[in-house]
Amino acid sequence: MTYVMVFLALAAGAIALALAVKGLVMLVGLPCPFCRHGKTTCFNKLAVNQKRSILQYFKDHEHRTPNVKCVFVCLGCKTVFDDFSGELRSMESNWCKVCNEQVFDCTLDNDSIKCTSCGTRYEWKTHEGSGFRFLMPPVDARLLDRCRYGHGVG
Ligand SMILES: [Zn+2]
Ligand SMILES: [Zn+2]
Repeated sequence: MTYVMVFLALAAGAIALALAVKGLVMLVGLPCPFCRHGKTTCFNKLAVNQKRSILQYFKDHEHRTPNVKCVFVCLGCKTVFDDFSGELRSMESNWCKVCNEQVFDCTLDNDSIKCTSCGTRYEWKTHEGSGFRFLMPPVDARLLDRCRYGHGVG
């Protein structure tokens, strides 16, 4: 009987910890994989002008409004990880904005990032208007509005 109670207490503790970690990630963001800056910042915590210029990129280049709850920004190297970016643990893979399949090796030094399912190419580029770096699809690509599988953070 005691063992069962200990087990239940441990299980409850583990769940509470998992929820706390997830809450913390939402609050403080994840470490940036591209620089030594400690963490990424949740979109909602950015300054108004930063928010405005990031949204401008999505409007101009991707013709969509991202799910901002899943947008994280590294202010160290000014990189935006959007709602199609990676899973919690690895921001080096992304979800294709055209076919929603996983795109691997989305590292900065890979200059031929390509979705193996639909052939869409991506490139880490700095958007002139905002000064932030995005994983950009071609400007004429027909993109999905939202990441279908919800694998992004949140
Ligand atoms: Zn960074
Ligand atoms: Zn694709």
